[in-house]
Order: sequence, then structure tokens, then C-alpha cells
Amino acid sequence: MYTNFNSNGNFDGLVRRIQGLGLMRQVQFIKHAPIETVEEGLHASQIHTADSVSSIILKSGDKYFGVIRSNEFIIDMMKLKQILGVTRLGLLSPDELCNRLGFRVGAVGIYHPAIRFYMDESLLDKKSLYAGTGDKCYDIVASSDVIQKISGAKLFNCAIKMKRKSKRILTGDTPSKDGRLHLGHYLGSLKDRVELQKTYDTYILIANLHAYANYYDKSEQINEAAYNVFLDNLAVGIDPDEATIYLESGIPETFELYTFFLTMVKHNRVMRNPSVKEETSYKKLDPSMGFVCYPILQSADILGFDADLVPVGEDQMPVIEQVREIARDFNSAYQLSSGEKVFNVPKGKIGKVARLVGTDGDGKMSKSKGNCIYLSDDEQTVKQQVMSMYTDPNRIRATDPGKVEGNPVFIYHDAFNSNKDEVADLKERYKAGKVGDVEVKEKLFVVINNFLKPIRERRKYYEDRPKETIEILIEGTNRARKVVQEVTARFKEAVNLDGVISKS
Ligand code: ATP
Ligand code: MG
Repeated sequence: MYTNFNSNGNFDGLVRRIQGLGLMRQVQFIKHAPIETVEEGLHASQIHTADSVSSIILKSGDKYFGVIRSNEFIIDMMKLKQILGVTRLGLLSPDELCNRLGFRVGAVGIYHPAIRFYMDESLLDKKSLYAGTGDKCYDIVASSDVIQKISGAKLFNCAIKMKRKSKRILTGDTPSKDGRLHLGHYLGSLKDRVELQKTYDTYILIANLHAYANYYDKSEQINEAAYNVFLDNLAVGIDPDEATIYLESGIPETFELYTFFLTMVKHNRVMRNPSVKEETSYKKLDPSMGFVCYPILQSADILGFDADLVPVGEDQMPVIEQVREIARDFNSAYQLSSGEKVFNVPKGKIGKVARLVGTDGDGKMSKSKGNCIYLSDDEQTVKQQVMSMYTDPNRIRATDPGKVEGNPVFIYHDAFNSNKDEVADLKERYKAGKVGDVEVKEKLFVVINNFLKPIRERRKYYEDRPKETIEILIEGTNRARKVVQEVTARFKEAVNLDGVISKS
């Protein structure tokens, strides 16, 4: 049964099989333009993922096995090996799938004389299932028992429902300097995280490896900074029961993706990245290789999570473009035998204030520039920072007409002061030379201090409970690692990375 088969004409073979079983009337054939992936097929026919099956073809020794499961499920490979009574089981390479079995990537059918099929039990109650035929232009729709008869499948139960709450967010911060986050982080990214954590499956990365790219010999400092990043995320209202906060270095699979992605990106492309250039300049770096390649590490961070959305400040958008490029390049070079894409191509999401100016009027509030108001600053420090803020440099006396546009004090008022009438009044009087800097700043201090009060309180709550707090990070890192392991396994299968040793 496993050797004599025709490697062409799978579609004809399927039709003959259906005719032979007398099931033609129970099967509906759907013709569409050629598709390359399962997703495209579903889209072309307007089918929901839950109502479709895809076949995965596996190999152990010289035997082929087909697994028919819903696209919403993944397979517990350990359990499947037990059921099949085999010790080794690997996914078929696209080459073998096409050239030996005559399937097309993305259009694997539910019947082949050389394949022993197994079907997931949870499909049994489905009256109508959409399935591939081995032909890019045809799919079929039939009830689950008809699909089972056609494929000759035995039933099994080792499919695990994927636990995706909804679309996924991946975002994070680098524990550079002392790691404490500032108002720029809040407006650029943290605010979105807090708002979206309820509706998105949210993962927050503490990017400690990124920090090593700047200071490889400062491990102690980075660890302290990482803890500060963690506390600040909790302090602004990230709920550990809604979102997962995790440590980058706790996920070694990220390095596997990173190493591979390094082979994909040209040296020139890395050096051209505007985010890298900008940071190299304002941080006055003699950049390490790790630093110039940080967008590639960030690609591994993001793509390893199947992220859909990445809330970032504007300065990070060129990095997100790089991430998308890697995902697209990889997906066009490699697919899974089911035709599914390996990596999701994520989108960046810029916060309401894309780039908050520093207190010194510099274009970007940045930990590395020391022009920040930190979320953990005490009242006194905030007061000092606000009162010494840069305003309109051409205004010498309170009676001089002042400039409001581009003036950091007013940018901060616009961003944090919910009393819009007060802001409008201050602006009018400032432009007319009827209010002094001191009054504008004092009002701003009150606003920012009120904004920071609950943040300070929550920070203190977690600071006072170090054991429980660190548990959140350990648990989060474990949870996050499972997600990345799943994606990395998919990546390795698609590349057939271990092909030479699993050839037997
Ligand atoms: P560094 O200067 O060391 O790079 P940073 O202050 O830029 O530190 P990161 O950890 O690199 O902080 O950035 C975390 C997130 O916050 C990123 O999405 C970044 O775009 C955003 N962000 C940082 N600074 C600002 C800012 N001033 N305005 C808006 N978003 C910002
Ligand atoms: Mg930065």
C-alpha cells in the first residue's frame, strides 16, 4: 500500500474514490481561482476557519500519515506518536509533498492511496466541512462522516484547541539606563497597552537582551533596570491576569529565530535603518554588532509571538517595517506543507502622541538623554523638572507675546490636562503676553502630579510584595515561552532545519 501509487492526478483519484464509494451526491465541489495557502482558500470561498479542515502529511520511516483536523486545532505530537505506534514522526517537506505525493503546497487533499489518514474526533458533529482536494482550483464541502469515509480515516483525539483570545499584541521596553519609564513611553505605547489588554491577547516584553547590545558588561545594572521596567508596567495598570509580562532572555527560542533572520537581512539594509541611525547618533554610540542588528532581534521577538499589533512610538516604525519585511520574505521562501504561512505579518500602532518632546525641548523624551519626567518620580522631582522646563526661548518677560506651537509646556498640557478650557485660556493669555511661564508651569505640575499619583501608589503596592511580584514575571515568562515554542516549531518544520538528521 505504501509504495505503488501514482504521484500525479490526486484530484482525479479523489473524484474516482468518491464515485467508487457512491458518495457523489453528498459532496459539493467548489471551483475557484488558484490559491496558494489555506487562508486564501478560506477567503476565496468565504468560509470560517472553524468550518474547515486541513490535512497535515507526516512521515515516519517510509510510511506516510495524514492528519485531518480543524484549522483551529494543533496536534499533540507526543500523543499522536503513541497512537501511531512510532517513535519518530516528522512533517513532510514541501519537496516530497509535491514531487513524491503529487500534492500542491497549500492544497493537500483528504485522500491519497499511499497515506493512512487519521481524523480528529472533535470534527464528528460537523454537518458541513470544507476540505482540500489536492488541486489548487478545487475544494469540497461535505459532512464530517462523508469526509471520514472518503479519506478512510481512523478517528483519534490528540488535537488541542488553540487558545487565542483574539488578536495578539506584542510590545515592550528596553531596560536601558536604570530602566524607569517616562511620560513619553506612556503616551507612545503604555497607554495603548493598558487600554487594549482587555480585548487583545497582550504580551509585554522586557527586552533585556536589547539592553546588552548597548552595555554588554553591565549585567547588574540591566537586571535592576529590568525590574524597574516590570514595575512600571504594573504601575500604569497592566493587569497580570489579563496580560503577560515576560523577560526576553527567558525564551531561548528567540535566539533560534534571530540567528536565522540574521542570514536573511543584507548588511546594507541594516545600516540604512533610520531608527538605528538616529539612535546611534543621539546615544553617541560606537555601535556593537548587537546594536546595529537590534531590529532583527526585535523581529524575532515579535514574529515569535504571531503578533498582530505592535504599539510603539513613532521612532520605532522603521523597525516595524523591517519586521514586516522579514516575515514576508520568509513566508515567500518557506511555507508549511499545509500551505499555512509560518509568520504573521504584524502592524505597528502609534500612540496618540507619537513622539513626546523632552523637558529640554529636544525632539524626543528619552531615557538616554536625561530629559524625562519618570512615572516613578516623586512630587519634588516632578516639580523641579516642570519648573525648569524649556518654553519659548524668545520670550524674556511675561509681558512678551509667546509661542504656543511646539512649546513643550503646552504640548504637555495638551497631552495630560483634561480641563480643555483651562488650556485654551492659558494659550490665549500666553500668546497675548498676559501670563507668566511660572503660572503655566505650576498648573502643569498639578496636572502631571495628579496623573502620577495612582501610578506611584500601584508601584508601591507591588514594591511592597517582592515575592508575589516576581512570581508574576516568572509565570509570565513560562507562559510566553510556550507560545514562542509553538511558532519556532512551525518555523523549523517549514525550513526543514533538522532535515539531515530526521531523514531516516
Ligand atoms: P532609549 O533611548 O534607551 O532607546 P527609550 O526612551 O527610547 O530608550 P525604549 O525602551 O527604546 O525607550 O522604547 C520603548 C517604547 O516607548 C518604544 O515603543 C518607543 O517608541 C516608545 N517611546 C520611547 N520614547 C518615546 C517618546 N518620547 N515618545 C513616544 N514614544 C516613545
Ligand atoms: Mg528607544
